[in-house]
Amino acid sequence: MSFPEFSPKVKPQNLDLNLKNTQVKTKYGHFPYEESDANELMIVSVWGEGENQRLQKLNIEVATELIKLISTARRDGIWIFPVSGFRSIDYQRKLFEKQILKKGTPEAAAKLTAPPGYSEHHTGYTIDLGDGNFPQLDITEEFAQTPAFKWLKIHGKDFGFELSFPKDNFQGIDYEPWHWRYIGSPKAKEIFHIARIKKN
Ligand SMILES: [Zn+2]
Repeated sequence: MSFPEFSPKVKPQNLDLNLKNTQVKTKYGHFPYEESDANELMIVSVWGEGENQRLQKLNIEVATELIKLISTARRDGIWIFPVSGFRSIDYQRKLFEKQILKKGTPEAAAKLTAPPGYSEHHTGYTIDLGDGNFPQLDITEEFAQTPAFKWLKIHGKDFGFELSFPKDNFQGIDYEPWHWRYIGSPKAKEIFHIARIKKN
């Protein structure tokens, strides 16, 4: 993958992901992201059986760090489970349309689900995490009460992961304690920085 729009003068360590004065055309507060090359993804978890089976995938670099994170957490008695990783633009479109039916308008839907083409999940650098002991709290704000979240809040950054949408985030997206993006490498930081500076 190449990033022709990225200025080599901008050093990754100087990147600010909280850019408020951006020229990028956002959609309901979400930045645009490109869909990852399928060859750069690997499976990190399996959900369901038969026709309902879904394979969760992440970028290989991110998957490697996530596996380290999960095994370190396990040694501390914490069970962290990858719930939702890479999503194609087509799949995100289906999720967004379902959310519009639930919430009534695209604006309201976008507080919880990014529009197609605007999800961090397209990059393969973002993962929704759950607590294996509390699957009923997957993708809910109550996930923040679980041992998995408490562990992630302390140790997530040691593996390069940060919350994309903390409370009162500048993008105006609802608090998502389950949604973590990987920014632990120069390439990872470029992906999220480019989304904020690239003109449509
Ligand atoms: Zn997510």
